[in-house]
Amino acid sequence: SQPILEVKGLKKHFASKKGWFQPPSYVQAVNGIDLTVYEGETLSIVGESGCGKSTTGRCLLRLLEPTAGEVRYRGQDLTKLSGKEMRAMRSELQIVFQDPFATLNPKLTIRRILEEPLIAQKVPKEKRTQIIEETIQIVGLTLAHLDRYPHQFSGGQRQRIGIARAIMLRPQLIVADEPVSALDVSIQSQILNLLQDLQEQFGMTYIFISHDLGVVEHISDRVAVMYLGEIVELGRKEELFQSPLHPYTRALISAIPVTDPDEKKERIILQGDLPSPANPPSGCRFHPRCHACMDICKTEVPKETFIAGQMVRCHLYDEKKER
Ligand code: SF4
Ligand code: MG
Repeated sequence: SQPILEVKGLKKHFASKKGWFQPPSYVQAVNGIDLTVYEGETLSIVGESGCGKSTTGRCLLRLLEPTAGEVRYRGQDLTKLSGKEMRAMRSELQIVFQDPFATLNPKLTIRRILEEPLIAQKVPKEKRTQIIEETIQIVGLTLAHLDRYPHQFSGGQRQRIGIARAIMLRPQLIVADEPVSALDVSIQSQILNLLQDLQEQFGMTYIFISHDLGVVEHISDRVAVMYLGEIVELGRKEELFQSPLHPYTRALISAIPVTDPDEKKERIILQGDLPSPANPPSGCRFHPRCHACMDICKTEVPKETFIAGQMVRCHLYDEKKER
């Protein structure tokens, strides 16, 4: 299938002032991401909190301005669009947030909340009513819900409303940023199933951001693993879960609880905490926490290596590349 989004060299640096007497330092939240997302797939971005995955998702939709890099949507570089052109593009590119309540105006009825994106895109009144009533039912709620307020809904129902709002304009691409992380486990699978049904119905492409590999395994076609602002491994879900290459991916996968009691699994414990992106380690950014760390890892940044279609950035695979 065709690429829908092509990302090259995406960077996002934030200035962070430590104190009045010090010059500002720069936090490299996203440090050079290359990524191609294909039409109709679900590409997940996983990593620990603070690894830059949410910042990446926001930069892809220009909800945050990238510091550098290209984000081509169907060939057009979004970073070059004017504010007006970008607003017109909003009908095709949408985001679903982790906590829908924080993003739903508590003073508005659900009908008004869902109407906003349609008004912004100048959809006529009769058509708006029709789309609102159709969409509330598509996400598994009823017409009676339209005249209620956000506080009258449970967490799972609020996320259905958040999803309804995101699909009002029938977008092509949705960034879903931890859409089920705030929900009870029993509700999570309902929302994941809803997202999958909607993808089938509307042919949408998803970029699914999560810290939870269990959730990612359920929903993804491909998975990108992020560590300190960089993608360290990317591959098809099956390969990535069955034969992870990067030591960080291996550790994350080893930490997923096993459901089959006969299955033997060795847990790889990560050493230490995620270092500050303001002061990332030299060489391989993962080296202080890596059990396989070699001398070269402390000084040289590992480059992309492709092994059977799987991309990995790790010196363990250096010689395989030369052959
Ligand atoms: Fe570990 Fe070295 Fe690979 Fe980094 S490059 S993940 S430190 S083995
Ligand atoms: Mg986040």
